[in-house]
Amino acid sequence: MTDAFIGLGSNLAEPTIQLARAVAELASLPQTSLVAQSAFYRSHPVGPQDQPDFVNGAVWLSTALGALDLLDYLQAIEQQHGRQRVQHWGPRTLDLDLLMFGHETIHSERLTVPHPELPNRDFVLQPLLDLNAGLNLPDGRSISELRQQCPDNQLRRLLPLPREPQPPG
Ligand code: AMP
Repeated sequence: MTDAFIGLGSNLAEPTIQLARAVAELASLPQTSLVAQSAFYRSHPVGPQDQPDFVNGAVWLSTALGALDLLDYLQAIEQQHGRQRVQHWGPRTLDLDLLMFGHETIHSERLTVPHPELPNRDFVLQPLLDLNAGLNLPDGRSISELRQQCPDNQLRRLLPLPREPQPPG
């Protein structure tokens, strides 16, 4: 089993509900269980400013899927949420990113892991800290230190409160 960390974001069509539904869908993926869920956070958009604020969060999954199979499922869930790719960094009903996949570093046509924007985004780093305060990137950099160095995007914490890691079984 591999520990996979997924980032979630939405700024259309009731973002908090989009994220809550996506968490349930991720938890029911085959050969996969939900270990923990972060709080949700409201953040200002990166890129075009003439769009609503985003709601962001992250989940920690334990999975027997390979990274590309997991990406296929993430993209299928995005499609089920009516995701359309209209504008780079523009509004979206649901964005799912594979942030980390165990200790793997992947550079392929479809997949870059760890996700390249991870170190620069407080709305990615803070949810990861909720999930595991001791988390490190495969190159050894600590998520906690990256969070302290990260530009402030005025994150505001929303409900639900983080769900603690669950004991197996
Ligand atoms: P986005 O518009 O941010 O959802 O980007 C989607 C594209 O990024 C897809 O074509 C994916 O194949 C590619 N991609 C590369 N690395 C990742 C990753 N770690 N997680 C999600 N999508 C990725």
